[in-house]
Amino acid sequence: MRRKGLASMAVHTASTSADPSGTTDSRVDLGPAAALSCRECGERIPLGPHFACTACFGPLEIAYELPDGDPEGLRKRIEAGPNNIWRYAELLPVPAGVADTPNLNPGFTKLVRAENLARELGVTGELHIKDDSGNPTHSFKDRVVAIAVQAARAFGFTTLSCSSTGNLAGAVGAAAARAGLRSCVFIPHDLEQGKVVMAAVYGGELVGIEGNYDDVNRFCSELIGDPIGENWGFVNVNLRPYYAEGSKTLAYEICEQLGWRLPDQLVVPIASGSQLTKIDKGLRELIALGLVEDRPYKIFGAQAEGCSPVSQAYKNGHDVVRPVRPSTIAKSLAIGNPADGPYVLDIARRTGGAVEDVNDEQVVDAIKLLARTEGIFAETAGGVTVGVTRKLIESGALDPTLTTVVLNTGDGLKTLDAVAPTSQATAIIRPNLDSFREAGLA
Ligand SMILES: *Cc1c(COP(=O)(O)O)cnc(C)c1O
Ligand SMILES: [Zn+2]
Repeated sequence: MRRKGLASMAVHTASTSADPSGTTDSRVDLGPAAALSCRECGERIPLGPHFACTACFGPLEIAYELPDGDPEGLRKRIEAGPNNIWRYAELLPVPAGVADTPNLNPGFTKLVRAENLARELGVTGELHIKDDSGNPTHSFKDRVVAIAVQAARAFGFTTLSCSSTGNLAGAVGAAAARAGLRSCVFIPHDLEQGKVVMAAVYGGELVGIEGNYDDVNRFCSELIGDPIGENWGFVNVNLRPYYAEGSKTLAYEICEQLGWRLPDQLVVPIASGSQLTKIDKGLRELIALGLVEDRPYKIFGAQAEGCSPVSQAYKNGHDVVRPVRPSTIAKSLAIGNPADGPYVLDIARRTGGAVEDVNDEQVVDAIKLLARTEGIFAETAGGVTVGVTRKLIESGALDPTLTTVVLNTGDGLKTLDAVAPTSQATAIIRPNLDSFREAGLA
């Protein structure tokens, strides 16, 4: 490990006050981001690397001064922008020149009209897969990391870090490499080979922790309060308010790709729940800005049965989420104590959606169903959303006559073990036609 220089850095005390460059609101250029505001009590504080409200310890989010009054002009500027998330820079906490900074330019992934899958599922309305496996490190995490990198630069951090269920570690490693930052990321030690290698190959430090994601997260919280963590930007801890905004771009892209139209129903995976809550925020912003018609949409959350604390709370009618110990092949979603769980419950109930879960066997079946019908190889998280979609149609919770968008947030090549036992060569033959015939394939 490269540790030189870290131990000698100045000590800071409160975990929410790391601010190495001493920046204040007036000196930070993060575009339309105006302040941090508390999601619980509404308290506003200047932009900085903070994640908890000083008044009530509630989570902070970005408050904006968004462009208004000219939806047509805004829509034209977006459409003329680059084919990545920076086309929405006016709606994100990033400086105006963001597209010219060294970054991975994620986003604008395909929205695939899934007619074969629709037939299999008995969907008569429009069914689309938003396929985020097409991002630079093959998961949706490139979106959130790209925003966090801008915040890290603005606040003068020199090391990029995270606690990760796998995909985030790879996205941070790659983004740091491109931006010329040091990276040191933390994962549970027993992740899939594909995720470990993806996280290590970019040359930063990768640390396996003996424990599950929630142990990794606790460790990172300790690190952040220690002098060792001085000058470290943890994308999903002290930069979390910025990071989280990256998920809004999924909502923007889906609506733009539908022809500036809201879908009726969305099926979104839940790990910490951040992505789901920010997709809802993104949709509400588009309505407020006049870029889409104001009409109802439903958001459905999807979990794996072996880590389904939000789904359980939803089904039991609870407002609080009781932590669980995860045990599922959907490791990217295996967060037993999801920070945004209560907000997810609010959104599912407010929009008329639901939260549902599927078991590991159903996850594998759904991965293979999506691959067989649409030629999309999803990671286990995509198996969770497709499996949950099927279950919601069967239960009648999801209306098969409407326009539905299902998220695939990662690439099946990262979770080969899930399908390897049941996806092998049909036959192994000698290189001649007789052998091919004998195998019953002619
Ligand atoms: C991280 C992740 C999610 C969602 O994470 P949230 O913590 O809920 O924002 C979904 N799918 C994949 C593949 C992920 O890696
Ligand atoms: Zn507060």
